[in-house]
Order: sequence, then C-alpha cells, then structure tokens
Amino acid sequence: MSRYDGRYADPTSFRDRKSDFGGYGGSSGYSRGGGYGGVERSDGYNGPSTNHSGSKKEFDNIVLPREHFDNLIPFEKNFYVEHPAVTALSEDAVAAYRRQREISVQGRNIPKPVRTFEETNFPDYVLQEVLKAGFTEPTAIQSQGWPMALKGRDLIGLAETGSGKTLAYLLPAIVHVNAQPYLAPGDGPIVLVLAPTRELAVQIQQEATKFGVSSRIRNTCIYGGVPKGPQIRDLQKGVEIVIATPGRLIDMLEGRHTNLRRVTYLVVDEADRMLDMGFEPQIRKIIAQIRPDRQTLYWSATWPKEVESLAHQFLHDPYKVIIGSQDLKANHAIQQIVEVVSEHEKYQKLIKLLEQIMDGNRILIFMETKRGCDQITRQLRMDGWPALSIHGDKSQAERDWVLSEFKAGKSPIMTATDVAARGLGL
Ligand code: ADP
Ligand code: MG
Repeated sequence: MSRYDGRYADPTSFRDRKSDFGGYGGSSGYSRGGGYGGVERSDGYNGPSTNHSGSKKEFDNIVLPREHFDNLIPFEKNFYVEHPAVTALSEDAVAAYRRQREISVQGRNIPKPVRTFEETNFPDYVLQEVLKAGFTEPTAIQSQGWPMALKGRDLIGLAETGSGKTLAYLLPAIVHVNAQPYLAPGDGPIVLVLAPTRELAVQIQQEATKFGVSSRIRNTCIYGGVPKGPQIRDLQKGVEIVIATPGRLIDMLEGRHTNLRRVTYLVVDEADRMLDMGFEPQIRKIIAQIRPDRQTLYWSATWPKEVESLAHQFLHDPYKVIIGSQDLKANHAIQQIVEVVSEHEKYQKLIKLLEQIMDGNRILIFMETKRGCDQITRQLRMDGWPALSIHGDKSQAERDWVLSEFKAGKSPIMTATDVAARGLGL
C-alpha cells in the first residue's frame, strides 16, 4: 500500500491551488504557483522559526539534532494527471512502446509511459523550458520515470550515464516544490538531492537553475573543499532545492546552518557510486533527519546487490524502472515463449513441444512440486521419453546419478523443482 493512496491531485489545480497548510511554521500559507499575481513571498531571514521540534537544550549532547516525526503536517505529493492520449493507449500499445524503448518496469499500479512532452502534463512553465532547451522527446527513463515520480511514489530508476536521469527527477521536483507552502524563515529545503561528488553536484545544480528559473525556485550546492561561508549564507536565505555531497551536508546540519524538516522529496543520485565511495553511514545519518512519509527516488547506472539492500531500507513500495539491459533482467540470449494453458492441457502441450524440439540435445523441465516432478517423469517414461527427475526428496546419491546421466546425454530429459535446480552447474 502506498501511504497516500487515494490522495489524487485535482487535475486542474496544481499551478494555482491555494494550499490548506495555513499554520506551517509561520509561513505565509500560500502555495507556490505559476501565477504570482498578488502573492507576497516571505523571503529573507528574520531569525529562527519558533516551532521547530525539540528545544535547544535537548540537542546539546548529540551530533545531529534528533528529529521527531509525530504530528507531521500532511503534504501533497501526487500531481499526476494522465493525458487523455495516454489513457487511450491499450495495454498492447504500452507493451510495444516499452519494448521499443527497452523499458522494463516493476511495482504496483504502474502508470503508462508518456511518449511526448505534451503527454507529461507538466505545467506550461516547465514545458517551455524543455522546449527552449531544444529537446524533442522524453528520453526512455523520462518517458516512464516522469509519470511514476509525479504520482508521488518511491522509485528506483536505472539507466546508463547520459540518459537524462537528472531531468527525470528534477522536473517532478519542480512541480513538487511549486505545490508546497513557501519556505518560512529558518526552513530548510523541500527537495534534497544527494550526489557523490562535487562535479556531479554542480552539474545537477546547473540543470536545476535552468529549469527552475521560470518558477523562481532557488537552489544551492553544498560540497566540501571550499569555504563554508557562501554556502551557509545561501542556506540561511532559504533555498527550495539543495544539491549536496553527504559530508559537507552533515557539517551544515551539525552547525545548524540548515535542517531537513521540510524535505518531502529526496533524491539519491548515482546510488552505486555513493556506496562505492563509502557514503553509506552518511546517507543513513542524513535520511534519519527526514520525515518518513517523504517521496524517495534512487537513481543509478548500475544496481549491485548492496545498493538494492540499502535502497529497500529507505523506500516504501517503490516502482522500479530499468532502461536497456541490466543484469537483473532476463538473459537476452535466451528466447522466452510464454503460453498460458489450463491444467489438463499441459501434458499434451509438453509432448507436442518435445516432439518439435527433441533433437538429442538436453532438455530441462521445471515443475512446481516434487509430486508433479515424479508424476510427469513416470508418465513420460511410460510414453517412451528418456526422462529422469531430481528434487529435494531424492537422496544425494540418486541426484548425483541423475545429474551425471543427464550431463552425459544418456537421459536427455530431466525434470526438476526449482529448489533442486539451483547451482546445477550444467
Ligand atoms: P544521466 O544523469 O542519466 O547520466 P544527464 O541527466 O546528465 O544524464 O543528461 C545528459 C544530457 O542529456 C544532459 O545534457 C541533458 O540536458 C540532456 N537531456 C536530458 N533530457 C533530454 C531530452 N529529453 N532530450 C535531449 N537531451 C536531454
Ligand atoms: Mg546523472
């Protein structure tokens, strides 16, 4: 279950919706939006906000302030309005489009991909920037990642370097920020992007600046190796988007130059490199500062097991979108044919298939149950097929013997349960 099922945005409203978050930390209570007519912003730093959780005293002996996440003010994170042309796409058309662009998806209630910028339903002020940049169509990761991210759900996005992942998370981030109440004095960012290196952080910032300018979203980049002063001043002025490397951000949090209480959209970019570079403890420390009902998005070019396990500690019911071939996907060298048949048709189908493909090469048949394995093997032998079976109820000696018969081609058909099949070393 997503934590916000059923909280769908009013299709017409996310550009100029008045927010109902009136009492947030002394903020003006206005939602941001494309049209600024008459809305006064509360810019400028006028001393610390008064309703931060906890008191100064309580924090004295700990490195980072301990955040409390009770009585959180709800926030909006589902902004997706499916374009009628997308709604009209048949499942077959969706499957064909995904195949053509090498998009694989996992997760619950996966939205259809968008094929054009128009189909994204991004607000005009965002789309104009995209067109200005001269882009003609969404990249594959954007095509599937945008609707997923706009739905407010957690997300793992895997695509090779140079495939447009930055905008895949930044444009939904801009929509997200524009729907939140303005920052109040003392508020930290709404969007936090974690990146492994200064160079990457700076590149991300350039995109954030270019595409955020039309909605006057401010950003800053927080990384080590340079004086802290200017970064501290940016943070204190108030910035909606912070792009940071983990170490310097922790410095800033320790020094109370910012806080993550308003972060509702968290991006971990280049997650694989983050782990390679040993940032896991820092990432944990940072994420512990952020409200648990935030939207979290992980992006990476590769997805080793360690990244998967880290990600799953911080993601809830995520979507996963993978572009191109990744190790996690089925092996392309193997042709897969799926046929759905009823139980009583299965054996005849199997015989037909064996008649077609039996050419002396070895054939492995997987069964769901040990009993099924035994039954089918017996039946095959009665019908004259050279079949043997292995499964967990057979003795080790018998399994070894069956395997050696199979490997030697003396018994070219072997049935097995998947448990027995692991690590056969065929
Ligand atoms: P990644 O993070 O996947 O390595 P980037 O986000 O850095 O890739 O994008 C690589 C380049 O592609 C950037 O210069 C970016 O501006 C550009 N780009 C992003 N989206 C599009 C698009 N839809 N069409 C054309 N170029 C794009
Ligand atoms: Mg990138």
